[in-house]
Amino acid sequence: MYIKVPKGTQDVLPENISKWYYIEGMIKEILNKYGYNEIRTPYFEYTDLFVRGIGESTDIVNKEMFTFPDRKGRSLTLRPEGTAPVVRAYLENRMDRISKVIKLFYLGPMFRCEKPQAGRFRQFTQFGIEIIGTKSSAADAEVILTVLEVYKKLGLKNIETVINSVGCKKCRANYIQKLKKYLKIKKDFLCSECKERYLKNPLRALDCKKESCKGIIEDAPIITENLCPECELHFAEVKSYLNSQKIIFHENPRLVRGLDYYTKTAFEFISGGLGAQNAIGGGGRYDDLVEELGGKPTPAVGFAAGLERMIIAIDQQKIEWPRGKGLDVFVAQVNEKNKDTVFKLLQEIRNNGLSADMDYSGGSLKSQMRMANKIEARYTIIVGEEELSKNMVILRNMQTKEQKELKIDNLINELS
Ligand code: AMP
Repeated sequence: MYIKVPKGTQDVLPENISKWYYIEGMIKEILNKYGYNEIRTPYFEYTDLFVRGIGESTDIVNKEMFTFPDRKGRSLTLRPEGTAPVVRAYLENRMDRISKVIKLFYLGPMFRCEKPQAGRFRQFTQFGIEIIGTKSSAADAEVILTVLEVYKKLGLKNIETVINSVGCKKCRANYIQKLKKYLKIKKDFLCSECKERYLKNPLRALDCKKESCKGIIEDAPIITENLCPECELHFAEVKSYLNSQKIIFHENPRLVRGLDYYTKTAFEFISGGLGAQNAIGGGGRYDDLVEELGGKPTPAVGFAAGLERMIIAIDQQKIEWPRGKGLDVFVAQVNEKNKDTVFKLLQEIRNNGLSADMDYSGGSLKSQMRMANKIEARYTIIVGEEELSKNMVILRNMQTKEQKELKIDNLINELS
C-alpha cells in the first residue's frame, strides 16, 4: 500500500501550479504598488512566541499547534500564523532603526492541527501584510483597501467586508467585566465549551456558532457601545476613510477574531458560497503585541488571507484562469540515431532564452507529436534524416499547423 499525504495536507500538482503562480504574482505586484517589502521568517519558532503572542486561551494555542521538542528539549512550533513571527523579526533585527513605520508582507505555509474539512487544512498558505509603527487610522483603511484590490484584480465577486472595533486594553477590560456578568447569568444555557471559556476568554463566546449560544449572544452587551473616546474616534475615522473610497462594509459588533492580540479595528472578508469556511481573510490592529513580545510600545495593523480559499472561491465563481505559459519549442526526432544532434539543438535553443524539451521515452514520431500537443508547445522542430543531410530541420507552427524547412543556422532567428 502507498503511504498517503498526511491528513489535512495536499499536493499541488503540476496541472494546478499555474494557478498558484498567477495568484502569488498578482499579490506581489499589488503589494509592491502599495509599498510593502517581503519578509521571510522560518517555518518554525520557539513555542513561547505563539503562547505569548497569540494568547494562551485561544483555540490556536490550546489545541491547534504542531509542537515538538528539538534535540535539546526546547519546545518548537510550526508557525500557525505570520504576525507574531514578523514582530519577532522586527524586534530582533531592530527594524525600528530603519524607519519609524515599516510595511512588510509575507507569503507562505502555516500549520494548524484543526479538523480538516472543505476549505480547512492543516497546512495552508497565507499572505499577510503588516504596517508596524503607526497608530494612524489611515493605515487600517489602507490595509483593507489593499486586500480588497487583490480580491478585485482576481475577479472575485460577492466579497463582504465586515468590520468592528474591539477597543483597547482600557475600554475592553471594562467591557469584558460587563460581558462576564451577563454570561454568568446565562451560564446554564451556554454550550459546554462556552461554559468553560466564558471566564477565561469571554470574547470567544461572541463568536460561538452553536445555536444554544447564538440567542444569548444576540442580547449580550455590545463592545462598540463601550468604547473609550479614543477608540471611538479611531473607529469613526477608519469608516470615514472607507466611505471616502466608496467601500461597502458591514459593521458587526460581535466580530472578534481568533487571536487575542487585536485592539481597536478588527475586520474579516467573507466570500459568499464558500460554505462553513467562508472567511477568506481577516485582520486588525494590534497595538500591544510589539510590547508584549519585549519591544517598546509600538502600534501596528495587519491582515492575513488564505490562498487555498481564494483558489476555491475563484473556481466556484467560475472565473477563468489565465492560460499558463506553454513550452516554446518541442524537438522531435524521426530516428534515435540523431539523438546527439537533437540534444545539441535543444540546449542551443535554451541557451538563447527559449524554453525547449523533447521526449526521452523513445516513442514514435506520432507519439512525440501527441506529446508536443499535450504540453501546448508553440513550435515543434522535427529532426529528420533527409533534412539533416542538408543541415536543415522542419519547423511546425503548432497553432496554424504550417510547416516549413529551415536551415539550422537560421532557426534561432526564426523562433525569437
Ligand atoms: P486567521 O489567521 O485565523 O485570522 O486566518 C486568516 C485567513 O487564513 C482566514 O480567513 C482563511 O482564509 C485562512 N485560514 C485560516 N485557517 C485556515 C485553515 N485551517 N485552512 C485554510 N485556510 C485557513
